[in-house]
Amino acid sequence: MSRLLITGGAGYIGSHSAVVLSKIGHQVVLYDNLSNSSRAALENLDQIVGQHMPFVKGDVRNTELLASTLASHSIDAVIHFAGLKSVGESTDKPIDYYANNVQGAISLLQAMQMQRVTTLIFSSSATVYGNPQYLPLDETHPTSATNPYGRSKLQIEEMLRDVAKSDPNWRIACLRYFNPVGAHESSLIGESPTGIPNNLMPYIVQVAAGQQATLSIFGDDYPTPDGTGVRDYIHVMDVAEGHAAALDFLSKTNGWHAINLGTGNGRSVLEMVDAFEKASGRKVPYRVVARRVGDVAECYANPHKSDQLLGWKAARNLDDMCASSWQFHKATGLAVSQ
Ligand code: NAD
Ligand code: UDP
Repeated sequence: MSRLLITGGAGYIGSHSAVVLSKIGHQVVLYDNLSNSSRAALENLDQIVGQHMPFVKGDVRNTELLASTLASHSIDAVIHFAGLKSVGESTDKPIDYYANNVQGAISLLQAMQMQRVTTLIFSSSATVYGNPQYLPLDETHPTSATNPYGRSKLQIEEMLRDVAKSDPNWRIACLRYFNPVGAHESSLIGESPTGIPNNLMPYIVQVAAGQQATLSIFGDDYPTPDGTGVRDYIHVMDVAEGHAAALDFLSKTNGWHAINLGTGNGRSVLEMVDAFEKASGRKVPYRVVARRVGDVAECYANPHKSDQLLGWKAARNLDDMCASSWQFHKATGLAVSQ
């Protein structure tokens, strides 16, 4: 079992991964600047795992603090979730995105090099495939970026590839997540966006809860079976378990690896609305509006490589994703009667 540093560990995917990794016996240290998360999430994490997880409040651009944290906790491997993640915001604030994401990754690599920690899992994204040239997306699909967020992910992936080439001690996995949704079964942790959600699932949840009047569906004239956009939604607990499998893989393999974490199933917006209504028993009123600029019609994974290399496959279904999202939202006390 390893001693792990989880950057961005108080956030959505980081906290679920911390639970999974801690439950299977790894010793986890969380590192986060709390720019998009809270101490309440940390307390809930402790409650789920039944022990206190050490937490360091810090920015990943603080190389000295990172290096001293790696040393004082004798860290063996790092899982790097910390970063900014909104596509729209990245177009307005590209400097913030390159600073947090790219500069943050460089700072982390410097700290790891200083302390001779050479195992790293990086949170990448299906956005590095740009506009799909074919489907399903496998890892050999050409990469490109259409916005600063995607470009920051791509730049980090390329940097990590160079780092792995420079020294055979490095063991690096770039996990390309598709669309993580859902929450832990305890409903103590989940996705809680601040302000009006940009993403489909948290928006649907707020409409079902009566906090937003109507879901705007961004276009129904795509070349898809029902005309609405198709994505590969994956349960966040499956994504979390994918990290445990990747860590195990890296204990036996060196080099740089890009691996999709997706289900392989494409679901349309209307299918998501329908599945959510069934899981929650609530209505999700919607209206169709114009396409969102920059959206692609379809994006879903070829999940073969993760199965082959990691022995990992997504196990939870769409009903689990919708039901756990709804349970988490109800537990936060925000759902109003309908
Ligand atoms: P999140 O915002 O919930 O978590 C990120 C965490 O990192 C937050 O707790 C935030 O406070 C922290 N953080 C941000 N900048 C930091 C910095 N400079 N120093 C220290 N901490 C910092 O986001 P998430 O959904 O959990 O995403 C985690 C990672 O996965 C991100 O890198 C994101 O780009 C990537 N990803 C997410 C999705 C998704 O749909 N959620 C999809 C693909 C990839
Ligand atoms: N979508 C929508 N209304 C919303 C948010 C999203 O119709 O309020 C659609 C969007 O056009 C896309 C799908 O839902 O087809 C998933 O969008 P999301 O932003 O969650 O993920 P991404 O597009 O980044 O994969």
